Amino acid sequence: ETQVTVVGGGLAGSECALQLARRGVRVRLVEQRPKATTPAHHTDGLAELVCSNSLKSLREDSAAGLLKWELTRMGSVLVELAKRAAVPAGGALAVDRREFSRLVTERVEGEPLVELVREEATSIPEGPAVIAAGPLCSDALFRRVTDLVGEGHSAFFDAAAPIVDAESLDMGVVFAQSRYGEPGGDYLNCPMDKEEYDAFYEELMGAERVISREFEQSDLFCACQPVEEVGRTGHDSLRFGALKPVGLTDPRTGRRPWAAVQLRTENEGRTAYNMVGFQTNLTWGEQKRVFRMIPGLEHAEFFRYGVMHRNSFVDSPHVLDRTFKIPGTSCRLAGQICGTEGYTEAIASGYLAALNTFADLRSLPEVSLPATGAFGSLVAYATDPETKDYQPMHVNFGLVPPIEGRRLRKKERYAAYSERAKADVGAYVDARPDLFRVEGKA
Ligand code: FAD
Repeated sequence: ETQVTVVGGGLAGSECALQLARRGVRVRLVEQRPKATTPAHHTDGLAELVCSNSLKSLREDSAAGLLKWELTRMGSVLVELAKRAAVPAGGALAVDRREFSRLVTERVEGEPLVELVREEATSIPEGPAVIAAGPLCSDALFRRVTDLVGEGHSAFFDAAAPIVDAESLDMGVVFAQSRYGEPGGDYLNCPMDKEEYDAFYEELMGAERVISREFEQSDLFCACQPVEEVGRTGHDSLRFGALKPVGLTDPRTGRRPWAAVQLRTENEGRTAYNMVGFQTNLTWGEQKRVFRMIPGLEHAEFFRYGVMHRNSFVDSPHVLDRTFKIPGTSCRLAGQICGTEGYTEAIASGYLAALNTFADLRSLPEVSLPATGAFGSLVAYATDPETKDYQPMHVNFGLVPPIEGRRLRKKERYAAYSERAKADVGAYVDARPDLFRVEGKA
């Protein structure tokens, strides 16, 4: 009887192992803790949340809430256990992290088909496997993964600028123009006058940072300075660097602004924009506070915050197949290591790896989650070879196909995306009892 090896008892690996077991597949779940650990984990429990205790919104007209609806519809074990470990958090699903981890560990240990092995995997397992070793995957194993996908297709450190929702920009202030170019160019500009620049600079200099020694010692750090460090070299350094206003004319004043933050589109639909030159070590809370001081970004919603930390992930769209398998092997990647960002996304990715592995073992037709869904759209982005400059991403409605016809306001549109997704995902689950019907299991 075939046994699947799952490496990593984090969010993705635990869901993956439990979903395979529910489908009658034997699993060897390999977790390195407590023998070896990561810089962010503190316990030996499975599915330990390394930072915030929130799995984000439950509102079904948000992408995060829709994702939880989809996972519940598919029978996710970790989402069910998160609800059991929930603590009050308004419209969000936040958990008592110890209780959540305890429940997951207990469930895995009580599952007769899962053998939990406490050791560090240092090579790609033989036979069908899923590597879900997370953004802090141990060095030895990540080197083996890199050997397979090729140098240049994996990232070890991640330096990324924040990405904001186009719809949250104040277009009365922000203007489209390339430097020295005609209005309507590829960039959006957030113009600052002297007072605004000075106030922003001061807050940026005083803002709280996450200090990452490991990162500061890396080569990449030298090539790619965080915006606050560039700022520290002098009051005007940003104005002569990423925020330089030359070649720009603010249509509201007809003059060149004192400084300007540039935003570059992330996708063809221009639904998401990257803050050019804003890779940063500020904490997420401080990014929201300080970057919202930039004119036009007062109500910015962040699809992704800037990061500069160790983050092992591979360039999935270009080195994995559409089921996240490493070509030429029977090994898949799941969780943040293949570029889904966020706790709930990791759970979803682990579930999908279980479905794909199960489909292989039983020779079932391909698994294809609807691209209109919160998770299906993230999978489509992460497996589309057209995706350029792949960056780990949370689910977001910028990734779903637009709804044609009548122009809807944002709130109505999000509700419509959600209704469409629920219908499509529900229909898919019902149409594939071979994948989703799990006899006699809770
Ligand atoms: P993990 O949950 O990290 O699980 C990976 C598991 O693999 C770990 O248990 C690890 O010990 C094990 N492992 C690693 N290497 C080996 C090996 N060679 N052999 C055996 N076992 C191994 N997301 C959010 O939604 N909210 C947040 O607040 C948040 N904060 C974050 C903070 C930090 C510092 C980091 C790095 C990430 C954060 N994320 C956050 C992003 C992401 O959601 C989490 O990292 C998430 O836990 C990823 O799930 P995963 O299953 O892919 O990896």
